Amino acid sequence: MSILDIQNLTARHGLLEAVRGVSFSVSKGETLALVGANGAGKTTLLRTLAGGHAAAGGKILLNGEDVTALPSHKRVRAGIALVPEGRRMFASMTVRENLLLGAEAGRKGDWSVERVLDIFPNLQKRLHSKTGHLSGGEQQATAIGRALMSNPDVLILDEVSLGLSPLIVDRVYASLDGLMKSGTTIILVEQDLTRAMRVADRLLCMLEGRVVLEGPAASLTRDQVTDAYFGLGRAHGKEMHA
Ligand code: ATP
Repeated sequence: MSILDIQNLTARHGLLEAVRGVSFSVSKGETLALVGANGAGKTTLLRTLAGGHAAAGGKILLNGEDVTALPSHKRVRAGIALVPEGRRMFASMTVRENLLLGAEAGRKGDWSVERVLDIFPNLQKRLHSKTGHLSGGEQQATAIGRALMSNPDVLILDEVSLGLSPLIVDRVYASLDGLMKSGTTIILVEQDLTRAMRVADRLLCMLEGRVVLEGPAASLTRDQVTDAYFGLGRAHGKEMHA
């Protein structure tokens, strides 16, 4: 059953159409990786899904309900949580306070500070530290934990790797692995194609605002994905791999 249905979604920055008639669905428990070159429209798409950017056309259905016009705080209450690029946290608040902020959406569910610490044990000793004093990896874990505390139906992660060392990225993904296995529905943007293909159930590649390739990660070849990524030969049009 699809939890999220995106229908012909368009988003603009002034005259620039950054997202052009994008349609796709996400099933419950699925991890969908969104890839594409710089400027392909990934961040604009994610922000439009989360309500941080207005849609210029099309529809976003969450559990069959049209949420396209809801502002971002209502979108969190409806069940969509975004961890933005660059993490954006309240630096003067402690990890615990940031996590509790996530719970203010008031959605029922299993997530608690304890459960976040199970997924990100490195935060245990940092619980009462101000987030401004944390390492990049710890900040990323806090930002993801805060989103989880809203008990989202769909967790959206924009470039969790950004600004982190390869070792820390491995640790963050190792923690996310538990999340993916626990049935959380995730949409993530990942620049590292190898990693995206490894962690995702399904891959969606954007080029100049459009979806140019979509399919199960296991059935796509790296050549197909890189061709779509760079807009080369074989991947013209939207290739569907059921
Ligand atoms: P990146 O990987 O660099 O973040 P992206 O795939 O996330 O790229 P977007 O950031 O969504 O792409 O950008 C899509 C297009 O919209 C680009 O042409 C970009 O220059 C433009 N754009 C993005 N944000 C703005 C903005 N605030 N004002 C004007 N144009 C913008």
